[in-house]
Amino acid sequence: MGRYSLRALRGQKSTKEYTEPSESPQKTVTTPIVDSHMEGVSEFFSTLSQTEILEYCLGYDKHKAPGLAADAVLIAVNCHSLEKKPHPLLEIGIHFISRKGAKKELANPGPHSLNLLRRISYRHIIIEDNACHANLLPNPQEAETNHFGATRFVRMEDAKDVLEQMFRMSTMTSSCNVNGTRIPRLCPLVLLNYDLPQWPTLQQVFSFDPSIGQNMVATISTKHIAYESGDPWSSAATTLSQLTEELNIEYPAKQSAADHAAYTLIDAVQLAMRPKMPLARESIRSVVNTTMLYSQSDIPLWGYEDLCTLCGEQGHRRLRCHLRRIGVECWKCTSVGRQWKRDTHTSNMCPFF
Ligand SMILES: [Zn+2]
Ligand SMILES: [Zn+2]
Repeated sequence: MGRYSLRALRGQKSTKEYTEPSESPQKTVTTPIVDSHMEGVSEFFSTLSQTEILEYCLGYDKHKAPGLAADAVLIAVNCHSLEKKPHPLLEIGIHFISRKGAKKELANPGPHSLNLLRRISYRHIIIEDNACHANLLPNPQEAETNHFGATRFVRMEDAKDVLEQMFRMSTMTSSCNVNGTRIPRLCPLVLLNYDLPQWPTLQQVFSFDPSIGQNMVATISTKHIAYESGDPWSSAATTLSQLTEELNIEYPAKQSAADHAAYTLIDAVQLAMRPKMPLARESIRSVVNTTMLYSQSDIPLWGYEDLCTLCGEQGHRRLRCHLRRIGVECWKCTSVGRQWKRDTHTSNMCPFF
């Protein structure tokens, strides 16, 4: 599939505003670099609490912020791997919002910060190479359950490409090197997870080039932000489900990695914004439902919309597979006498071989 353009990365229907690298009319734009300003941004964030880092990423100004910090991008990530060895990565939820975009909503963030939540780009990636492992789940259909973002099946190598482009978002401004070549600057990235950092999993699975990640200036967690809020119900043992329900947000029984990342981000936004905003008449549940529907209309230009985890063909999902009516059998499983679960997949999607 090759390199994706930034527009492709960002989606078809998105009305969100992003920074694009400026280009010199004479010089070719080269690979973005991490300049010395990035270190100043890391130092700046190291002086803030996690709540303050989140507030800054949502557009609130902080004293002594370096200029480059204004281009920060907040990225919420969650990886879901199979519990059984060798723990193949099944799916990734990755959602992002630029500080500059968020800042435009601060004057009118909407009920329960709906306008902010709609500014977020929601992405749900199912790793095509590992999609057959859905057949090891108690209910293979659950692998397709998703509420936030349009699900896309993506080959491993293409997922690496997509992620690298996300982690290399560049600013509107560029700097000059010694030859006068214009070089785009990378946006400082702030990663958000619920509790455990997700970057080590991504790095282990995709073996990114060492240059990827140099612009990650802070990693924050919603659990820690809840702890900083001082609410009596918040403790080290609080789960994402409990926190979400404490915030009066409905938490679905089954969630994708994208859902996990979305509630991680939505909860964090509520924790940061609620003390600053008057009570809304709308219910938080309807606001989250609206966000959910909106997120599904923001379509990325990569990956496949449909892949059947039962027969392995593209163009349809498992529920609509014509083989369901006539029954399926995996000859690989049959040949070794493995009869259980054999009606869940064809040999194309056998998770055992
Ligand atoms: Zn099928
Ligand atoms: Zn099989």
